[in-house]
Amino acid sequence: MIDLKDFEFNELEEYLKSMGEPKFRAAQIFSWLCRGAESYGEMTDISKKTREKLEKETYVSTLKIREKYVSKLDGTVKYLFELPDGNCIESVVMRYRHGLTICISSQVGCRMGCRFCASTIGGLYRNLTAGEILNQVIFAQKDIGERISNIVIMGIGEPLDNYENIIKFLHNVNNEKGLNIGLRHITLSTCGVVPVIYDLARENLPITLTISLHAPNDEIRGTIMPINHKYKISELIEACRSYFKSTGRRISFEYSLIHGVNDSAENAAELARLIKGMGAHVNLIPVNKVEEREYEKGSQKEINAFRDKLISLGVNATVRRELGSDISASCGQLRKRVL
Ligand code: SAH
Repeated sequence: MIDLKDFEFNELEEYLKSMGEPKFRAAQIFSWLCRGAESYGEMTDISKKTREKLEKETYVSTLKIREKYVSKLDGTVKYLFELPDGNCIESVVMRYRHGLTICISSQVGCRMGCRFCASTIGGLYRNLTAGEILNQVIFAQKDIGERISNIVIMGIGEPLDNYENIIKFLHNVNNEKGLNIGLRHITLSTCGVVPVIYDLARENLPITLTISLHAPNDEIRGTIMPINHKYKISELIEACRSYFKSTGRRISFEYSLIHGVNDSAENAAELARLIKGMGAHVNLIPVNKVEEREYEKGSQKEINAFRDKLISLGVNATVRRELGSDISASCGQLRKRVL
């Protein structure tokens, strides 16, 4: 059975055409799907005959809300969604002045093995389909009843390890007949799968690419991120410079501050030298304590000192504000507990 949300819009048009449907049918159905219809029965402006035809080969996929938490501090909403096969993923909706931002997952689990991360502890189960990635936005928006305007692909999984489905998703979520979320309002975060960064540059999509760098040299990065054994920092930075050059889109870097590991003044100076000349922004994230991991964050004073050192060296750096701290909104932790 086919999930119609796994088609890109033009493929949906083709598919419906092959069933003998008129051209406008694709827009009609796509719009219902993106508004969170849960069955063909809800699509009241489509004839019963067409619906019956669709039901023979296809289905309307849904996501079940298995758990939901709302932060009393800042309104952050955290979902544990259950997929049709019983697997679970997490999505988080955050309230910013400029609107609602959703953080979505790209895989069930992750095989990247970053030492500080909760999502990778059980390894990779499977990729999410394009429809499952889109459904997180559709069903969170439907549940909250307000428009979601921004997306960060920073939940469970490595998006560049599920490349084709992510690209399909980006096209569909951007389609004006559906959710119509601007690509400039979408951020994709990667641990640095170098060859796929070049592929992404060729798509020429005006999304924001952010790199989980977390260290200024191979020695430190190698101890916390296994991907660094495959692609050295110099190769990663080269890919970033090339991405910036060919797309004109500035890259940003995430840097989780781990006390005593990567947060010295010397580390800040080395980081500034490494990313010089790219106009890149650095997002500092005080590391979140994960039960199975030994890493701790430094004091607020140490965190601010790292930021100020970067700024003094001409790097645009900010410390990420923590949202949803009362509902453990950082990803991976909820799914792990349920497993
Ligand atoms: N796989 C992608 C996206 C998911 S992780 C990536 O690696 O970018 C989103 C961000 O949260 C990444 O920068 C990741 O390194 C960071 N992260 C994961 N666990 C963390 C923790 N315990 N504390 C702080 N940041 C963490």
